[in-house]
Amino acid sequence: AAGPSPSFDAHDDRTLGGLLFPGFDEASCLSRYQSHAYRKASPYKPSPYLLRRLRAYEANHRRCGPHTRSYRRALRLLKPGRDGEGSPGGPCKYVVWNPENGLGNRMLSMASAFLYSLLSRRVLLVEGSTDLGGLFCDPFPGSSWLLPIDFPLRRLPFNQKYSKSYGNLLKTSRIGNSAGGTLHRPFVYAHLSNDYDEYDKRFYCEGDQLLLEKIPWLVLRSDQYFVPALFLNPEFEAELVRMFPEKVAVFHHLGRYLFHPSNEVWNLITKYYEEHLATERERVGIQIRVFAVKLRPFDLILHQILNCTLSEKLLPKLDLRRQVALATGGTSKAVLLASLHSFFYDKMKGMYSEHPAAGGEVVSFHQPSHEEVQMTGRAAHDGKALAEIYLLSMVDALVTSSWSTFGYVSQGLSGSTPWVLLGPVHKRLPEPACVRDVTPEPCFHFPPNYDCRARAHADTTKLLPYTTHCRDFWKGVKLV
Ligand code: GDP
Repeated sequence: AAGPSPSFDAHDDRTLGGLLFPGFDEASCLSRYQSHAYRKASPYKPSPYLLRRLRAYEANHRRCGPHTRSYRRALRLLKPGRDGEGSPGGPCKYVVWNPENGLGNRMLSMASAFLYSLLSRRVLLVEGSTDLGGLFCDPFPGSSWLLPIDFPLRRLPFNQKYSKSYGNLLKTSRIGNSAGGTLHRPFVYAHLSNDYDEYDKRFYCEGDQLLLEKIPWLVLRSDQYFVPALFLNPEFEAELVRMFPEKVAVFHHLGRYLFHPSNEVWNLITKYYEEHLATERERVGIQIRVFAVKLRPFDLILHQILNCTLSEKLLPKLDLRRQVALATGGTSKAVLLASLHSFFYDKMKGMYSEHPAAGGEVVSFHQPSHEEVQMTGRAAHDGKALAEIYLLSMVDALVTSSWSTFGYVSQGLSGSTPWVLLGPVHKRLPEPACVRDVTPEPCFHFPPNYDCRARAHADTTKLLPYTTHCRDFWKGVKLV
């Protein structure tokens, strides 16, 4: 019998339990109201308070978004010679998000920047000169989230060394003691990427947020899922707990709210799904990210995948004594592989076509692309990456690779806990080959580990009792 194929009737609420604004034009962004039909019903419901905050955000974004009068007024504050006139700066305040690293990293940090915008009552604008505009639909009704091309700060060298970053201003004491100090500037750059230092990390502290509150333009750069660190601020924490009574579903809701593939990418996704996955009884996704390509660990990783999927009974054992798989009418399983490389697909498909599987199960393998190398920023390449992230979020059982933000986004969108292939795989096979993750939340790889009160190093998991070290990356933390 065919498995659940897309249906557009009562399978789930098309607004995802009220998460999505209901009045968007459907044709300009088909994925927005259709994607629920391709996934299992979510076990997590958004809270009424989150819905209220989202609707209020949307109204504010419409009022302050690009090309509005309020936007133009706020822009005037950035003109040379207007230094010091940042406050009060009119009613609209902004977060300008800058990208770093691959698409998975970008989606995680965009979701984090959006949540920060909600909490700080700012409007999120994303750097639009990359290919993001072609990958995603606008998430907010009646406005755009793309930063206009003529935004005046665009060419500034925003990185850890940027002399006017918040951290560097603190370091050189140009804004004095942050608690009780003042900061009159039209914009501040917050550096929140993996190479941030102790001063940059002060961004997360309550006293520092009180200072930053008055700045109309907050430029932010990050490649991290920094949501857990927002809980370090007691004022934010109270709001977060109301918005997300189930902390394990923060990215699940944010990701489903924000990320709607454009019609072009959605066409790739639905065509592939219907041709390869729709009729199978069960779908297994395996995301294979090889970080140490130079060491050629491909054979070892193949063994690891087999050890994991066979011992966890995600794939049936092969009867190696017999040649040629004959379909015996047993259950059918589609395995969706996502990887830059074709090696794993070739090998696994070969094995399962040379030998019959236990129980007469019919196993088919599918890999939408094999790009060989990462080419972030190229629209066609990123479109394939987004399509695969999405397809992986539609399977029944998901296996992901350690440390990979690509896999984190898939698991978060689907709301499932994956089996994680442990790493690194250089010379030896990890034992066990994989572990079941604890929540669908992404891992925050480089948490601040900073105690705002003591102004000293402290393990974030000790400061925030509802975080734990990630199973795939011990230094990282995740919400549980
Ligand atoms: P991470 O480096 O694994 O954390 O994930 P990122 O998404 O941040 O960066 C990896 C990038 O490499 C992706 O965005 C893609 O551009 C590319 N990539 C890695 N794995 C795959 C894959 O399985 N399929 C496709 N199409 N691209 C991939």
